[in-house]
Amino acid sequence: MIQSPDGTYVVRLALPPGFVKAEILRTVAELAERYASGEVHITVRQGLEIPEVPPSKLDDLLRKLRELGLEPGSTGPRVRQVTCCPGTRTCANALTDPVPLARKLHEEFLDVWVPAKVKIAVSGCPRGCTRPSENDLGLVAVGGDEWELLVGGYRVARLPEQDVIDAVELTLEWYASEAPPGTRLHRFVTDRVSELRDVLERL
Ligand code: SF4
Repeated sequence: MIQSPDGTYVVRLALPPGFVKAEILRTVAELAERYASGEVHITVRQGLEIPEVPPSKLDDLLRKLRELGLEPGSTGPRVRQVTCCPGTRTCANALTDPVPLARKLHEEFLDVWVPAKVKIAVSGCPRGCTRPSENDLGLVAVGGDEWELLVGGYRVARLPEQDVIDAVELTLEWYASEAPPGTRLHRFVTDRVSELRDVLERL
């Protein structure tokens, strides 16, 4: 969670990427009314935040969220909320349903400690509505079950879906072991793209 300048807190929620069940939205709305100002912020990374939580209500809200199976979202030098487009469920241009892969990435990597925050975006076709080339890590469906992995906007691998999790894990391990604290992955990779491609050859 984040403290606002007025001393209240912003409680960020870790939502699975893609689609959110209506009952979760209703629950979050009720909690925002009960423990905060009654408003919910929809973040640029497709997450939800409950702002203006008074310090006196923070512990109760966090406990209630956990009881309901909702975990606080990631902040600081960690892997952040994975963003994802709707893919074949609603988009005529989609080459695949990107949601299952985005959810696997969410389950495997959300909150993992890294030298600086890492943002991941998944797109169901090369139009790239989630801006995969502007995220630290981007996954773009390119047809069949193939995905392109972009790191800092550089195309570093083309993979079958079954290898994507291993490729992201190798990339994050390489980044965590090589980069100085505070250095964003998209900057760190700029002079080391060929080194990262060599690392991914291990797959
Ligand atoms: S990235 Fe492609 S599949 Fe996803 S919403 Fe945009 S056009 Fe549709």
